[in-house]
Amino acid sequence: MKGVDIELHITTLLLVALFFVSINYAILLLVLFTTVILHELSHSFVAKGEGISVEKITLLPIGGMASIKKAKMKPVSEFQMSVAGPLFNLVVCTLVLAAVTALGLPIYNWASWQYAVIGEISKMAVPFAYSTLFISSVFWMNYLLAIFNLFVPAIPLDGGRVFRSFLAMKKDYLEATQIATKVSTIITFLLFIYAVLSFNIILIAISIFIYFGASSELEYAMTDKMLSDFPIKRLLRNNFLKVGGDETLAEVLSDMIQSKSLVAFSRTDLGMNMASIYDIKEVPRVEWGEKIFMDIAREMETISPDLTANEAMREMVETGEEVLLVEKDDKVIGCVFKDDLNHVYQALKVKHGQ
Ligand SMILES: [Zn+2]
Repeated sequence: MKGVDIELHITTLLLVALFFVSINYAILLLVLFTTVILHELSHSFVAKGEGISVEKITLLPIGGMASIKKAKMKPVSEFQMSVAGPLFNLVVCTLVLAAVTALGLPIYNWASWQYAVIGEISKMAVPFAYSTLFISSVFWMNYLLAIFNLFVPAIPLDGGRVFRSFLAMKKDYLEATQIATKVSTIITFLLFIYAVLSFNIILIAISIFIYFGASSELEYAMTDKMLSDFPIKRLLRNNFLKVGGDETLAEVLSDMIQSKSLVAFSRTDLGMNMASIYDIKEVPRVEWGEKIFMDIAREMETISPDLTANEAMREMVETGEEVLLVEKDDKVIGCVFKDDLNHVYQALKVKHGQ
């Protein structure tokens, strides 16, 4: 799909080592990656239809993860997006079964497939890609991905998101997330115990992944809720500097020190460009006399002073910016720092006894 990056997580490279064990493992791995990518792309496809943008898909050794620009989704949208991935896998399973039946081919059952994948596969003389083991692998990988994601109601797995979306139809988003994370913790705990007792390393990794995923979902929902009543007008700072754009970094820096500014911006016909003191710090000191402001400035959108703190936070999460410029009637009237939003959030958490 256009506009979605696919990246391998560093730990996934461990799996790639299997390439060197045998060509059959390499093929098996390609089947797995393709299955996971198509599963995640199905989520992305529905998300895009709902106007939610997807930045990238990361392949982890235990599956994939689509990075959705975290916007608070409507429960119905979250439901549709979450079921799309497993549904895709179930469609593939059905097609494989239909094809196998039509052609009168045999298919490995669950136990013999596992046995074959662990043992036989590297020794197989018949080219693996033409074998029934290959077709069986396509079936079982899709089946596993669908069942595990859909029927384990632990957030952030798809089943957990489906569960949360049902709760969110009746309850407040934060409350729904709180219940979903509690359920998720219990499931993860049981899964972890089972994984340890059965020496299943993949399952241990999955339970740890779910545990941290659930915590970050809860943290996000809490931040969003607490900051939702806080107007950014109360957080506006005026330590910004307007520059022309062709000043050298050295000049901009001394002006910033003079005016105690942390960010500088330049407005041209092409748009608004901004750089912070940290961006300048990234440039080697020897280049400060040569490079001009516009060499390092980034184009950015300004925000309205009428936003609430959670809306500003969402914008920061989406854009990856640590500071946003606030504009009213075509005039920059201040800037908002992520640090300040975090401080407000920490204070509100204390106030609400969290
Ligand atoms: Zn999924």
